[in-house]
Amino acid sequence: TQGLHRALQRSPQAIALRHLDADGGLRAWTFAEHLDRIARRAAALRAMGVGRGDRVALLGPNDDRLVQAIVAAWWLGAAAVPLNTRWSAAELAQALADCEPARLVVDAGLAPLVAGSAVPTLDFDALAAEAERHAPLPDTRSGDDTLATLLYTGGTTGRSKGVMLTHANFWTAAVSRGAELPNSPDSLALLVAPLFHVAGLSRLIGQTVVGGGCLTMAQFRPAAVLAAIEAQGITDTIVVPTMLQALLDEPGFAPQRVRSLNRIAFGAAPMPPDLLARALAAWPQAEFFQAYGLTETAGAVCINLPENHRSEAARAAGRLHSVGRAGLGAEILVADEDGRACPRGTVGEVCVRGPMVTAGYWRHPEATRAAFRDGWFRTGDAGRMDDAGYLWIVDRLKDMIITGGENVYGAEVEAVLRAHPDVAQAAVIGLPDAHWGERVHAVVVPAAGVAGTPALAEALRAWCRERLAGYKCPRGIGFAPELPLSAAGKVLKNELRRRCAD
Ligand code: ATP
Repeated sequence: TQGLHRALQRSPQAIALRHLDADGGLRAWTFAEHLDRIARRAAALRAMGVGRGDRVALLGPNDDRLVQAIVAAWWLGAAAVPLNTRWSAAELAQALADCEPARLVVDAGLAPLVAGSAVPTLDFDALAAEAERHAPLPDTRSGDDTLATLLYTGGTTGRSKGVMLTHANFWTAAVSRGAELPNSPDSLALLVAPLFHVAGLSRLIGQTVVGGGCLTMAQFRPAAVLAAIEAQGITDTIVVPTMLQALLDEPGFAPQRVRSLNRIAFGAAPMPPDLLARALAAWPQAEFFQAYGLTETAGAVCINLPENHRSEAARAAGRLHSVGRAGLGAEILVADEDGRACPRGTVGEVCVRGPMVTAGYWRHPEATRAAFRDGWFRTGDAGRMDDAGYLWIVDRLKDMIITGGENVYGAEVEAVLRAHPDVAQAAVIGLPDAHWGERVHAVVVPAAGVAGTPALAEALRAWCRERLAGYKCPRGIGFAPELPLSAAGKVLKNELRRRCAD
C-alpha cells in the first residue's frame, strides 16, 4: 500500500485502474478514487470483524472489484487469498478449510460453488454497498514480513499448497523486475493473467504500485483482447505462450490491429520456438522479454531482456530461448543431486535464493523443509547455465522422462513436433513401460483442417527420427482436439498422463 500512497501523492488524478467488460464497457478509477474505494472496503471488512493477521478469501474474475478487495485486505493488515475461479466446489472447500479465512468475498455468479461453506460469505456487490456506509479506514501500513497473500499453486504437478508471500517478497520481486526493465509511467498495460496466479498479482503490484501506471483488467477472450488492444491503444501486456498462440490463431488477428502493443512479456511455461518466431514477426516493432519465476518467488527471478530477442549475436549464442539472467537481488544455483553447483552447461536442479523467496507453505512444515536445502529454494525445474549466467529451463524434473536410463526433456521433443506444418500443438509425456521404465508418448493437436490419421502419426515419427536421437522419439503418438490446460494456460501433464493411462 505504501506504493499506492506514493502514486497518490504524485498524481492523484491519473488513472490507476480500469476494467474492460466483455461487451467493451470501461470503468476507470483515478488513484484518488481507487484508494478511497479500497479504504472504505477495508473499513467495511473491519466492521465485519476481520482483523490484522486474518485471511480474507476472494473468488471472482479479474476485475476492479477483485483488485480493490485484495488491496483492502492488505490495507487493514489481513492477508488476501485469491482463489482459483476454475476450481470445483470440492477444491474450493479444501482450500477454504486449509486457510480458514475470516471472510469470503465472492462473485455472485460463482456463489453456488461455495454455498455449503461455513465461512461467512458476501458477494462483491454487498461489499461495495457496505463500503458506502463507512468512512475510509486509515491504512495500517502493514509491510515487511507480514503475510500479504496465500497463493495456492496450480497443482500442475501435485496437490495444491498455499504459498505464503509477504509484503517484502512482493515488493522485492517487483523492484527487482523494475530495475531490469523500468516501467514507463504512461504505459497502458492490459492484464489478462488471473490474479489468483503469481504472474497476475505481481504484474498488478509492478504496474500500479511500483510503476505508478495505469492497469486495465480484463478476462482472456482472444477476440475481445484484440479489440481492446486496438480500441484502447494498449502498449504493454504479459501472456503465457498458450494465450499468445490463441491471439495469433484468432480469425480477426491482423498485425495492424495490434500495432500499439510495444512490450510483450511472456513466461510461466516453456515458449515453443515456432510460436516465438511467429510472434516476433507479427509484432516487428515490439520489445519481447521472457520472465521465469514461480509462485514461491513472488514473480520473476530471471529476465531475458528485449535485446536478446532481436539481435543476431544473441540468436547465435542461443539466448533467444534462454530465460535470461538472475534479476537484482536474486541468486540462481544449478545444483547436482547433492546440492553442489553443477559445472556450467550441465543440467541440474535450478535453485533460488533472495528476499523474494517464500518462507514456506501454509501449515505444511514438511513440504517447506523439503523445498529448501542449505538456504536455497529448490524449484523442481531442470536447467543449465552458461558462462555469462544465462539460464535455460529444460523441463520440470517431475515431467522429465527417464527411458532406458536416458533423460528425455519433453520440451525438446515438443519443439520438434510443433515445427511440423501439420501440427498445431504437442505435449510429450512419459508413460509407464515394463521394459524401458518409461516410454516417450506424444499427444498432438493437428493443425486446422488436418486429420489425425495413422499416416500422419507415421509421418511425425519419421520427422522426429530425422531430427532427434532414437531414444527421444515418441514411441506412441495420439491425437486430440485440444490439450488440457490449467487456469494459467499451462498444459496439465499429470492430467494427460492419467488420460493416456486410461
Ligand atoms: P504446481 O507448482 O502446483 O505444479 P504451477 O505450475 O502452476 O503449479 P507456478 O508456481 O505457477 O506453479 O509455476 C512455476 C513453474 O512454471 C516453474 O517451476 C517452471 O516450471 C514454469 N515456468 C515459469 N516460467 C517459465 C519460463 N519462462 N519458461 C519455462 N517454464 C517456466
